[in-house]
Amino acid sequence: MYDPNNIFAKILRKEIPCDIVYEDENVLFFNDINPQAKVHILCIPKKNVSNFNEFLSQSDKESIMHFFEKISVITKELGLDQSGFRLVTNNGKDANQEVPHFHIHILGGENLKGIR
Ligand code: AMP
Repeated sequence: MYDPNNIFAKILRKEIPCDIVYEDENVLFFNDINPQAKVHILCIPKKNVSNFNEFLSQSDKESIMHFFEKISVITKELGLDQSGFRLVTNNGKDANQEVPHFHIHILGGENLKGIR
């Protein structure tokens, strides 16, 4: 069950601010408030889905492709495709997922040894 009071839902409703990297009608990418690397961007769909599996099962193929294509575009725009980067999604309890709105972390901008 999706919790509409989670912090990313509030960000999507513009109830609290975020540092936007990219936005369109379907996705919002913003900088993590507590970055674990020089580049640490959170990528979320504008859809009430709690985790990766819900996103895949409740979205059409076009939306899923759009989400991952935009992640690819941003990594290229930031030059991370040259230097390297990591995509992470924490899914559920054992992964210590803190915010129950599906998100992908983009980590990069430095060597990620020892980071997440
Ligand atoms: P996860 O553990 O995968 O659920 O990650 C949640 C991430 O959200 C953490 O890296 C937090 O630092 C980040 N976070 C929490 N609140 C905010 C916020 N208001 N703005 C930006 N990032 C946030």
